Amino acid sequence: MPDPVDAPGLSDLPLEDLVACHECDLLMRKPQLAHGDKAVCLRCGYELYAHRHNVVERSLALVIAALLLYVPANFLPIMQLNLLGQSSQDTVWTGVVGLFDTGMQGVAVVVFLCSMGIPLLKLLCQLLVLLSVRFDIGRSYGLLLYRIYHHLRDWGMLEVYLMGVLVAMVKLADLASITVGLGLVCFVSLLLVQVWLEVVMSPHQIWEALSGEDLHAGD
Ligand SMILES: [Zn+2]
Repeated sequence: MPDPVDAPGLSDLPLEDLVACHECDLLMRKPQLAHGDKAVCLRCGYELYAHRHNVVERSLALVIAALLLYVPANFLPIMQLNLLGQSSQDTVWTGVVGLFDTGMQGVAVVVFLCSMGIPLLKLLCQLLVLLSVRFDIGRSYGLLLYRIYHHLRDWGMLEVYLMGVLVAMVKLADLASITVGLGLVCFVSLLLVQVWLEVVMSPHQIWEALSGEDLHAGD
């Protein structure tokens, strides 16, 4: 396989025909992909992008599923705690309120943002971006929202929250009897749907669809 750095004429190509590897920064000629194919870096093997079928429709279905799971995940009990005859049911929301009421306002705000606020904003950004592509309206807003989404990704920490819940459950298991609530099932499902969405919603295809280069993102 020829070394693409030395490929003749690479510097003469328009920028749209070039792609850089996220991992090792190698600059390459953008390959034309058939449906279902994926492009990998010639040097390090990192997946540059994939051309998936029905990206917009499948992503929309997953975003709507995630939004439907969001409400029970945050407002149904994560667990029921029975200690010395006293029983309490805790949801993500009552956890935030509890922190706030016990004087830890700063922690309450951070927990609220990372477990509820930012994940919801991320999903709404994704929904609006997909609707913008699907119905071909407001693409300039779509581009802005997709940029915002990429910044928000670093701040939504559902998986960290889930780890915290699991550690607390293991620690408390010796002291109290704990019953897993429906909220936790929805929370884990929400996390899984979001991971699936990350895989399906190929950024390369969404950026191209938003910028109007490729009108076949929904194929
Ligand atoms: Zn690479």
